[in-house]
Amino acid sequence: MKGEPLMQTSGHDAGDRYRHTRRHTGQPTTEVTVGPVVFGAHRIVMAAGPCAVERDGNLLRVARAVAEAGATLLRGGAFKPRTSPYDFQGLGEEGLKLLSEAKDVTGLHILTEVLDPRDVDLVAQHADMLQIGSRSVQNFPLLREAGASGRPVLLKRGMMTTVDEWLSSAEYLLDAGAVGVVLCERGIRTFETSTRNTLDLNSVAYLRARTHLPLIVDPSHAAGDAKLVTALSRAAVAVGADGLLVEVHHDPARAYSDGEQSLAPDQFARTVAECRAVAQAVGRDL
Ligand code: PEP
Ligand code: MN
Repeated sequence: MKGEPLMQTSGHDAGDRYRHTRRHTGQPTTEVTVGPVVFGAHRIVMAAGPCAVERDGNLLRVARAVAEAGATLLRGGAFKPRTSPYDFQGLGEEGLKLLSEAKDVTGLHILTEVLDPRDVDLVAQHADMLQIGSRSVQNFPLLREAGASGRPVLLKRGMMTTVDEWLSSAEYLLDAGAVGVVLCERGIRTFETSTRNTLDLNSVAYLRARTHLPLIVDPSHAAGDAKLVTALSRAAVAVGADGLLVEVHHDPARAYSDGEQSLAPDQFARTVAECRAVAQAVGRDL
């Protein structure tokens, strides 16, 4: 039988490998609270913002725009996991301070990535929710530190992790005492190269029964192309996602990173409106 073995077959008896993440019969979705935002409740959560935190008022510009369009959580990376060491790596602590400032100005709570176990305390001082990125999904020391941080964690699916491996990473967070874990499907690598990744909406439908954790979708990294983001957002809401994580930039062509997949504020506002209609059709709010 494929998937979820109950027992480890060698070494010591590990017991239920999915003890924290498994949904028991009749168990409701566990709500994860980030300030005024609740993942896993009736209302679909819109988290939005730039790929990377930027200087010169850029972050604030985007933050105000996404708040106005209906986002309730501001995303933005201060520590960026870049394929090349020569690409922009993020503003680091300066970026974290800009995120805190944006929170003070807009009231939006902050979601930002932590890349290095040594930075968990610092990032947790500025973030309301920690993001573990796709490339870090099996960085087990990082998962343990983030789990113990006292902040809820958004755990992205690795671009090459199976659902079982992804859930095991969530187990690491919860085993370390995480106060809340939200899963985020962001697309996986397949043979298909016409889009940056392949958005696995199967996982959203499948995980609904398998786990009680809330689950959101990142259509931006899945598509790699702003033109596809609105349609994928509608599909994610239709299939039952508890929220969306969308990259937005006031001037995508000039974004420090991932501009090609970032929506302009007016496109984001239209996306929210269209997703709201889909949400209502499937018995939810946005
Ligand atoms: C991001 O959210 O900017 C990011 C780097 O995403 P992922 O880890 O899914 O590639
Ligand atoms: Mn990005």
